Amino acid sequence: MSAFPTTRLRRLRRTPALRGLVRETRLHLDDFVMPLFVAPEPLVNEELPALGRHSLETLPREAEELVAAGVRAVILFGIPESKDEEASGAWEDDGIVQRALRDLRPRFPELVLLTDVCLCEYTSHGHCGVVRDGEVDNDESLDLLVRTAVSHVEAGADVVAPSDMMDGRVAAIREALPQTPILSYAAKYASAFYGPFREAADSTPAFGDRRGYQMDPANVREAIRECELDLAPIWTCCAPSASASTRRSAPTTSPASTRWSRRRQRPDTSTSAPPPWNP
Ligand SMILES: [Zn+2]
Repeated sequence: MSAFPTTRLRRLRRTPALRGLVRETRLHLDDFVMPLFVAPEPLVNEELPALGRHSLETLPREAEELVAAGVRAVILFGIPESKDEEASGAWEDDGIVQRALRDLRPRFPELVLLTDVCLCEYTSHGHCGVVRDGEVDNDESLDLLVRTAVSHVEAGADVVAPSDMMDGRVAAIREALPQTPILSYAAKYASAFYGPFREAADSTPAFGDRRGYQMDPANVREAIRECELDLAPIWTCCAPSASASTRRSAPTTSPASTRWSRRRQRPDTSTSAPPPWNP
């Protein structure tokens, strides 16, 4: 490859038209997802003014304004009426996000509805999973995350977005929801930069921090590994079961979380066809 003085990359930076011609990244409204926080009561957010909380009553008006402005996708975060150890507000059929989805879905059939799938907004201690003996129990948390994702899809979500950083969450959700796009927070660092967001979502941990499950910002190689794991052909460890349902019709009689628990105890090594694509 030639070098200076033959190669002069500045040649392509001379005019706005030239720069436009060779620009590698373009942002379009299609690329953006607007976060929406839904809570029992509306609340102004001083630190991030655009990210105040909406009630179930004010949410449709906000969605209407966004759609009119050309926004095509929103992601819902929920703040429940009450919180408990098992994060029941995250996965119950009448949880705040589930109710918001049932309201928005028929009103805005074209709007892409994503949901944040995590437990920290719903647990009394504010951690992203079930706490046992002072620590977040990974595998027990998976059951509740899967149950949450399934209930979101049943209520009308197009895409589920697990943000918790438990090991194996994408595979577990994929097994329960073979047709639903999964937008994982593949490499999420433990960071104070999430502070204003946690304020909006009311999910600050009551004790400790998230470094036991979110990544160390110093680890780049581990981040790449996390991303690769989320993209791995997960059917080799968790083939979709014969009863696996399609989008928006997940079984209610056999909760996905129960199937996941069974599978975890007795790995399925059958040769079922892989899902057509991975998350
Ligand atoms: Zn969380």
